Amino acid sequence: KTKKKWQTIQTQRKSEPSFHALRHFDENYRHQFGDAWPSIRLGLLSPQKYGALVNNYGIAEETEEFLQSLGAEDFIQPAARELLKKMMVDQSVLEDALMSESEDASDSSSESSDEESNIGISSLSDDTLQNSEHSGQMNPIEDFTKLQTKSETGQPKRPWDEKYIVMPGYEAKMEYLMSADAVGHRELDSAQTVQEMDLEHIHRPLTISQHLKCFVYGSGSLERFPPSKMDSGGLFLQYYAMDAASVLPVIALDVRPRDLVLDLCAAPGGKALAIMQTMLADGLVANEPEAPRRRRLQNVLRQYVGFDRQSSSEVLRITTEDGRRWGEMEPDTYDKVLVDVPCTTDRLSVTNNDNSIFAVSRTNERWELPKLQSELLCAGLKAVKPGGDVVYSTCSLSQQQNDAVVESALYHCQSETNMEVAVVDLSPLTQCLGHVFKFWDRAKHGQLVLPNVNKNFGPMYFCKLHRVR
Ligand code: SAM
Repeated sequence: KTKKKWQTIQTQRKSEPSFHALRHFDENYRHQFGDAWPSIRLGLLSPQKYGALVNNYGIAEETEEFLQSLGAEDFIQPAARELLKKMMVDQSVLEDALMSESEDASDSSSESSDEESNIGISSLSDDTLQNSEHSGQMNPIEDFTKLQTKSETGQPKRPWDEKYIVMPGYEAKMEYLMSADAVGHRELDSAQTVQEMDLEHIHRPLTISQHLKCFVYGSGSLERFPPSKMDSGGLFLQYYAMDAASVLPVIALDVRPRDLVLDLCAAPGGKALAIMQTMLADGLVANEPEAPRRRRLQNVLRQYVGFDRQSSSEVLRITTEDGRRWGEMEPDTYDKVLVDVPCTTDRLSVTNNDNSIFAVSRTNERWELPKLQSELLCAGLKAVKPGGDVVYSTCSLSQQQNDAVVESALYHCQSETNMEVAVVDLSPLTQCLGHVFKFWDRAKHGQLVLPNVNKNFGPMYFCKLHRVR
C-alpha cells in the first residue's frame, strides 16, 4: 500500500512544471556549465538570499540604522568607492604612460607629422571638459576612458570609435537560433550557441549614485529580513526586499543627473524602484503591458515613492504598451533604457508550479522567448538616444536567452538600421563585488550571477550596450 502511494506521488511529481523545468535544466546546463552545474543546481534549489533596498523617500538614516542593527551591511557604497579608486589609480598610471610617450614623441618630433604630434593631456582635457557634467572641473572618470582608448597613432580616441565585427555565416546561424527547432525542448549547447559573432567590448566610465544602498547579510548567512514597516514619518515603507543581484542591472545602467530613463518591462517594479532610489533621473517611464502585474507595479511605487496614478507625475509615468513597439513610438528619445525581459525565471521555475512557463500549456510561449527578448532589446536600442546606454537583463542562466539574444538583437538591429552599438565591459564593476556575488567568468558579452549556497543570489544576467549612433 505504501509502495503504491509512493508511486502515485512520484507520478504526480513528474507531471509538475517544476519537475519538467529541473529536467530541462539538467539536460542543458550540464553542457553549459560542466562541473560547475551540480553546485549551481544546489543553489537554485536552496533558499534564496535577499537584499534590502533602502527607501530614500522615507527617513533613510533611520532605515539604515535599523538594518545595521540586524547585522546587515550595504554592499553598494563600498563598491562605489572601490570603483572610483580603481579608476583613478588606472588613470594616473595611464597619464604617466601618456606623458612619457609624449616626451618620447617630442624627442623625435622632427619625424612626426603635425597630426601625430597633436597628442597629449591638453587635447584630452579640452575634450573632457566639453563632456564633463561638472563644467569647469576635471572629471577623472571621463578622462580615464579617453586615456585608455588611445588609437595606434597615439591620438586620443573616444571609446565608441571601436567597431563591432560580424563574422561570416552569422546570418544563417541567427536564423537557425531563432527557429522553433533551436529553442525547443533541447537548448543548444554553449559551443553551438554563441561562437559565431565577435563583438568589440569597450570601456565606459561607471559611477554609482551615493544614494543607492542595498543591505545584505554576510556570505553563508541564512538570515532573512523581517517584513518592511512604515518609517516614523508614517508615509513610506522603509526598505524593499529583493534579490540583491537585481540591483546590478540598475547599477550598470549608470543613471546620471537629468537622465530620462525608460524601464521597458517594469513589473513588479524592483528595478524601477532602484532607478528612483538613485535620486538622479529627471524622468522615469515604467512600462508594463499586463494589467495584473501593472497593478503590482503601481502598488510598489505608491508604497515606496508615493506615486499616485490619478495625478500625473512629472518624474514618473506608468505606461501599458507592448514594449516591442517602442522603437517606432519614441525613437532616439531616452538617455538610458532598461530591458529586463520576460524569461524562464530559472529559480522560480524549479520551486514553484503556479503559472509556470514550463507548464505544457505555455510551451509555445517558452519556445518564443528568445525571439521576444531579441525584439524587446532591439526596441530598447531604437528608443535610446545615440550616445545613450541600454542594459539587457534576465533572471535565467540560459546562454540562449542571454549572450545569444544580445548577438541576435545587435545583428538584426544593425543590419536593418544605420545604428551602431558596442558592448560595454562591466568587469571593473564585478571585480568590486566578488565577495557578495558569485559571477560566472565565461559569459561572453554580459555578466552572470550564479546561484551558490553561500552567496545565494541570482541567477541574473546583465549586459550593457552603448549606442554609438
Ligand atoms: N523589471 C521587473 C522588476 O525588476 O521587477 C521585472 C520584469 S519581468 C522579468 C518581465 C516583465 O515583462 C513582466 O512583467 C511581463 O509582463 C513583461 N512583458 C511581457 N511581455 C512584454 C512586452 N511585449 N513588452 C513589455 N513588457 C512585457
